[in-house]
Amino acid sequence: MEIYLDHAATTNTDKRVFEAMLPYFEEHFGNPSSQHGYGRTANKAVSFAKEQAAKILGAKTGEIYLTSGGTESDNWAIKGIAEAAGKGHIITTQVEHHAVLDCCVYLEKKRGFRVTYLPVNEEGLINTEELEKAIAPDTVLISVMFANNETGVIMPVRNIGGIAKSHGIPFHTDAVQAVGRVPINVAELGIDLLSISAHKLYGPKGIGALYIKDGITPERFMHGGGQEKGLRAGTYNSPGAAGLGAALRIADESAEKDNAHHHALAKRLEDGLLKIAGTRINGANASRLAGYVNASFDGIDSLALMVRLDFEGIAVSTGSACTSGSVKPSYVLRAMGRDENEARAALRFTIGRDNTERQIDSVISLITKFVGELRAITPFAQKNGEKHFA
Ligand SMILES: *Cc1c(COP(=O)(O)O)cnc(C)c1O
Repeated sequence: MEIYLDHAATTNTDKRVFEAMLPYFEEHFGNPSSQHGYGRTANKAVSFAKEQAAKILGAKTGEIYLTSGGTESDNWAIKGIAEAAGKGHIITTQVEHHAVLDCCVYLEKKRGFRVTYLPVNEEGLINTEELEKAIAPDTVLISVMFANNETGVIMPVRNIGGIAKSHGIPFHTDAVQAVGRVPINVAELGIDLLSISAHKLYGPKGIGALYIKDGITPERFMHGGGQEKGLRAGTYNSPGAAGLGAALRIADESAEKDNAHHHALAKRLEDGLLKIAGTRINGANASRLAGYVNASFDGIDSLALMVRLDFEGIAVSTGSACTSGSVKPSYVLRAMGRDENEARAALRFTIGRDNTERQIDSVISLITKFVGELRAITPFAQKNGEKHFA
C-alpha cells in the first residue's frame, strides 16, 4: 500500500508544473537578468510567476518578490521590517511555524526587540481584542499566520488586518498553507506582507514569494546584484519560477474542485476516526482548511502509531514535520490547552488532490486496528484503563 496523507509537509510536483519547468533547464537556460535574448526569454518565467502570484492575491506584479521558499519569505518579512525599524515591539502568536517563531526569538534575544506571543483558545484562534490590547506605541510589526500547518485552523485575518491598519502597523501573514486553498485578497484583508511557498501547492521545493505592499519597506535581505530592486540579490531560479507560476495558475483554476474533494474525504476520515473511542478532532469547531484533520487518540503515543502506519506505506505526521523524530509534544496543541499526553497522542492527516475514498477507508480500518493493539500493550492506556478502550 502507498497512501500519502501528509500534504501539509509537502506535495508532489504536478506533472504540468514539472513540464512547465523543463524548458528553463534546457533551451531557455539564460540568466533572467541578462540583456540579450537568452535573458529576455528566461525572464518570462520570472514575470509569469509574479503575474500568477499577483493574480491569486489581488496584488500588483511589482509587489511580488521571489525567494527560496516560505522560510526565507518569513525571515525577510520579519527581520526586514524589524531591522528597518531598528528597535521596538513585535506581536505574533504561540502557534506560528518555526520560520516565524525563531525569527522573533532571535530578534528578542539578540537584537533587543520585545515580542508578544499571543495565546490561542482551545480551537487554536487568537483573541483579536487581546491583540489590540497588546499594541504598544513602538509596535513595529504584527505577524499572524493565515492558517495553521498542524490543524488547518484559519486565523481571523480580516480582523487582524483591520486592527493593524487602524494603528498604522505593518501586518505580515505566513500564508504558506493557505495560498491556493482559500481565496485571498491582500487589499481587502489589510495584509502588507505575505509569504508563499511553491512546494506546498504542487510546485517545486526551493522557491517561494513574498508579497510586499507598495510603500512598505523591509530592509534588504540579500546583498549582491540588483535583482528584486536590489532588495533580494541572487540569480533568479528561473525553472523554479516557471514551476511556481504554473502551480499558482493550476491552484487558482482548480481550488473549488480541490476543496470539494478535500472536504468530502476529510469528513469521511473524521467520521471514521470518531468511531474509535477516545478520539478527538483538534480545532473541530474552528473554520479550517479543507482536508486537514488533526486527531488525538487517548492513551496512544502517536509516534508508535505513525511508525506502524509507515510500515504499511501510509504517510501521516505527528505534529509538524520539523519536530517529528523528537519526542516533544506539539507546541501548537499545547497552546490549545491539550495536556502533554493529549498533545503526544495526535496525528495530522492532510489530504491532497490524488487521494481517494478507498484510501481513506483503508487508513480508517488500519488505525482502528492499531489503536486497539497499542492500547492493549501501552502501560499508560492500561493505567487510565477506561472500559471504552476495549
Ligand atoms: C512549510 C511551511 C513553511 C516553510 O516553507 P518552506 O518553503 O518549506 O521553507 C513556513 N510556514 C508554514 C506555515 C509552512 O507550512
